[in-house]
Amino acid sequence: MKMVDLVIVGSVAIDSIETPFGKADNVLGGAATYSSIAASFFCKPGIVAVVGNDFPKEHLDLLKSRGIDIEGIEKKGASFRWKGYYEYDMNEAKTINTELGSFADFKPQLPEEYTNARYVFLANIDPELQLNVLGQIKKPKLVVMDTMNYWINTKREKLLEVMKKVDVLLLNDSEARQLFQTPNLVKAAGNALELGPKYAIIKKGEHGALMFTKNSHFSAPSYPLENIKDPTGCGDSFAGAFIGYLAKTGDESEQHIRKAIIYGSTIASFNAEDFSLNRLKRLTKQEIELRYREFVDIRNF
Ligand code: AMP
Repeated sequence: MKMVDLVIVGSVAIDSIETPFGKADNVLGGAATYSSIAASFFCKPGIVAVVGNDFPKEHLDLLKSRGIDIEGIEKKGASFRWKGYYEYDMNEAKTINTELGSFADFKPQLPEEYTNARYVFLANIDPELQLNVLGQIKKPKLVVMDTMNYWINTKREKLLEVMKKVDVLLLNDSEARQLFQTPNLVKAAGNALELGPKYAIIKKGEHGALMFTKNSHFSAPSYPLENIKDPTGCGDSFAGAFIGYLAKTGDESEQHIRKAIIYGSTIASFNAEDFSLNRLKRLTKQEIELRYREFVDIRNF
């Protein structure tokens, strides 16, 4: 069996979502779910999470079928459930309800093999859990983190502590403004870099993404998608493809970080085309390469 290249901690969830284009109740969701499936196009991820006794077996089978290691997923109590909706501005999810279920007191003990992983993605979940997992990895080479307004509102200090320990920080534009209390994204990115990360990436939903370092910046274009049904999980798909690509190449030079951002944007754009994991489930490597090249052309002048 192949070793795990990348450890992902984050929610594995059951979502109920409504968008102007349809509705899906009790479907597979969660930050670790979207990001691990996106990463599985490039490398072998292992997930650290807890699911409830109510969690359908078919969802775990799907993860396994993608070569994702699920040794780190415990099963007990109740599943994480998230209910949200989008209005015509699909850049921002509105949360109706969050039930943490067994995540509320989850204290993972990582499988021994995971502790040797070189790539770590601290996906959206309680920052205390992000810190706990990171602390168990012996020699991480690249650590990427993401979060969301729920944790900015409830655990800001802990989040800042995690940010000091990571190499790449991902935020969406509204979270960056909220966290650093400024309307200016360049200032927010500057504040993020001062905490310690080498890269701050600000995702702007369908309008692309911005990457900042202390002395450079890069702007990824948006993709002109005609068919958007559900943006849930786009941030996670972006992140999973981003770190999955870096784990595959083993090269974290800025040039590769920029390419990884385009792979992230590519997979995120596919994800929005259908509800839940439906689009990523039928996505092929060939489709990814074709759209990646389109992204390159969009910026050719
Ligand atoms: P994204 O659209 O990429 O920001 O993430 C959507 C996923 O995040 C959904 O599938 C939810 O299950 C999950 N989610 C929602 N709220 C939270 C939260 N507070 N912590 C962790 N995951 C969450």
